[in-house]
Amino acid sequence: MKSKLNLANLPTKIEKLDRFSEDLGINLYIKRDDQTGTEFSGNKIRKLEYVLKEAVDLNYDTVITCGGIQSNHARATVASATKIGLKSVVLLRTDEVPKVEGNYFLDKLLGADVRFCTSEEYKKSRAEIMKNIAAEYALKGMRAYIIPEGASFGIGALGYYSAMEEIVLQEKEMGVNFNTIVVATGSGGTYAGLYLANKIHGYDKRIIGMAVCDDAVYFKNVIHEISSDALEYLDAEVDISKDEIEINDKYIGIGYALSTKEELDFITMFARKEGVILDPVYTGKAMRGLFSEVRNLKLKDPGNVLFIHTGGLFGLFPKQDQFDL
Ligand SMILES: *Cc1c(COP(=O)(O)O)cnc(C)c1O
Repeated sequence: MKSKLNLANLPTKIEKLDRFSEDLGINLYIKRDDQTGTEFSGNKIRKLEYVLKEAVDLNYDTVITCGGIQSNHARATVASATKIGLKSVVLLRTDEVPKVEGNYFLDKLLGADVRFCTSEEYKKSRAEIMKNIAAEYALKGMRAYIIPEGASFGIGALGYYSAMEEIVLQEKEMGVNFNTIVVATGSGGTYAGLYLANKIHGYDKRIIGMAVCDDAVYFKNVIHEISSDALEYLDAEVDISKDEIEINDKYIGIGYALSTKEELDFITMFARKEGVILDPVYTGKAMRGLFSEVRNLKLKDPGNVLFIHTGGLFGLFPKQDQFDL
């Protein structure tokens, strides 16, 4: 296994959600990966610990990455790169002049070189745009390492490979066995890491990825690809199959980073019941999906369920006007 930097506050806590468990008639636990840090809170730092280690080892002095205007990944990259003395550039997708708020505000506060592109450009040519930025930096004598969206590529997936091992250690300490793990899925790297550790170590857990943008077919392909790439870093000979990847795409709602009243009401209800804040883009949709699946008897006998809170708090603030409080 590759080595990594130690940046995140690990291991993250696992807590039981008492009232919500009682309401649903299941044993529901939450892993607080929203508490991996402050500036780099959320799931991306686990991936970045591996990615930035590679960047440092290979003598890069700059990192370039991309995401939506409120990207948690971009903000975590900027924060962690800055922390270890690297320069950061973020290519953010927006079709309007963005308000300086939430994650984007923090990108600027932390000193990132912020570039913009339209959703059209992002979809078609973000890789090329990032290459051009790297070339621009090369002219200044700097070496830029390009991190793909969400750090969802082979080495990034090692972050949640390790997180799964962390979960299993915590199970032993707690004397609980988690049968089902639920996580929001946006670019697939988190799921890929969990899946690989589950497969390679034979943990035999059911892992459900709640899609927040694209459909199940898309994610099965993407996660299969990321997992194949990640296998290169793991001394393991296993056959991975798309059939083993479980994605639920029924709770995307009206689209990526867009919220319905039902979703925001759910976040409000959950906050008041458990004192835990979910985010509107990922965890709010994923927890609402889990809630509905259990309520509507679509998810039967899930056993002990572990929901991974992957963060996203800063993305909540730009949406505060949409809440009905
Ligand atoms: C990026 C992100 C996810 C999704 O993780 P992927 O590895 O991209 O699938 C979930 N929750 C939050 C808060 C995120 O920022």
